[in-house]
Amino acid sequence: MASKLRDYLSPTDLGLALLAIMSVAVLFVPKQWITRQYQLPLSEVNTALFSDSVIGGNSQATAVEGSDHAWHCSLRSGFADPFCSYQIDLIGSEGKGLDLSVYESMTINLKYEGNANNVRLYLRNRHPQYYKVGDLTTTKYNGAELDVESLNRGAFTFKLKDFSVADWWITAKSIPMPLSHPDFNDVLFVEIQTGSDVSSGEHQFKLDSISWSGPVISQATLYRVLLITWIFAIVLVLLIRIINLKITLQRNARYQAELQKINGLLNVKNRKFEELAKTDGLTGVANRLGVREALYRSLTEWRDSRTPLSLIMVDIDHFKEINDKHGHDMGDKVLQVVADTFSHSVRQTDLVARWGGEEFIVICPNTELLQAQSVAENLRGRLANTLIGGAVHVTASFGVASLSDNNLDQLFKQADDALYRAKASGRNRVMLAETLAPPKLVSG
Ligand code: GH3
Ligand code: MG
Ligand code: MG
Repeated sequence: MASKLRDYLSPTDLGLALLAIMSVAVLFVPKQWITRQYQLPLSEVNTALFSDSVIGGNSQATAVEGSDHAWHCSLRSGFADPFCSYQIDLIGSEGKGLDLSVYESMTINLKYEGNANNVRLYLRNRHPQYYKVGDLTTTKYNGAELDVESLNRGAFTFKLKDFSVADWWITAKSIPMPLSHPDFNDVLFVEIQTGSDVSSGEHQFKLDSISWSGPVISQATLYRVLLITWIFAIVLVLLIRIINLKITLQRNARYQAELQKINGLLNVKNRKFEELAKTDGLTGVANRLGVREALYRSLTEWRDSRTPLSLIMVDIDHFKEINDKHGHDMGDKVLQVVADTFSHSVRQTDLVARWGGEEFIVICPNTELLQAQSVAENLRGRLANTLIGGAVHVTASFGVASLSDNNLDQLFKQADDALYRAKASGRNRVMLAETLAPPKLVSG
């Protein structure tokens, strides 16, 4: 299956498919898998406990003996806005607070006993835009009122975006509107106060834990990363395709060039072989294959413009006797001399060919029967007068025919018939095809 898949998909296709699957998977990953959490180490933090008494009120805040992060508040009237406050210092060794802006929610485990309905929580942030060095009251009071019922149910989780900046702080510090929104980039203190609706009386607090949590990567960042990854992947795939195309083109060009070289070589060889195949090995004139083109050309000319075509068929007389008397080599020699004599006696447009054994033909394009007859007569005379190998005289018989209709078979048959008649009437003579002209003894 896997190998089949690889047959259809290139590595880049597979990479893209994998990336697509991964992209979808990333979008559906359960939130808790990519959530980070920060648990405030309460055992290590510095805390401060105070009340409105520091600014002239009568309330009193006291730590509960023998219990960590537990405090008691005796709220007394007599001050405009009585409160008790428990302040947790978040400033690290380098003087920096906590960057809580990367978190989405806060969870607090705080028990409260008393008559209030709310507990106030501040996350006090520092930013050069509003913070004045040395004046901690210029830290921004990002506040939330937590309802006691929810708090006492156990760990209470709420969103950081539900915080709002305390109005009294905005007014007191003359904060302009653009800076009046909560921010959490450098939180110096967590402050737990008695709530706004509080009334005089006894209030008991016990803080067990505080933590913040949020996604490792925000949705916006995730989409941005996915988008960039896809753009990068597509560009990469395009680059790979372009490079591959270039390589293929180069390889094809090389292949074509080599093929052309080989073709050139083969063409030369082919032509040589073709020539060899069309030539009779003994005499050097054309063989049966060699007359094909000349016949085709002549036939076309006859068809197109009735250009006459004549054929002379030749058979050496008593050739067997020569072989018998003078040996086969002399026979061969005779064949060569006949071919040579004929080749040198005909016009350039005529074609001499060895038809078989001791038979030859002469194709005479653009030649009327009577002209062909005189060609044949000329050949006959020359041959009869040639002394071969200083010892042998040969004669030959000739049959001449002209193309009368579009039929080569007919032409050959008529020439052959004429030749037969030349033999029958005593050899060493030229006879014309019967249907074309009355038999006419030319010589012999
Ligand atoms: P005719 O006058 O009736 O044509 O008699 P012929 O002897 O010429 O005719 P026949 O067909 O009886 O004999 C032809 C001979 O040609 C027979 C064969 O051995 C010989 N021959 C055919 N090809 C070659 C060749 O390439 N070389 C040699 N030396 N002889 C050949
Ligand atoms: Mg023969
Ligand atoms: Mg013969």
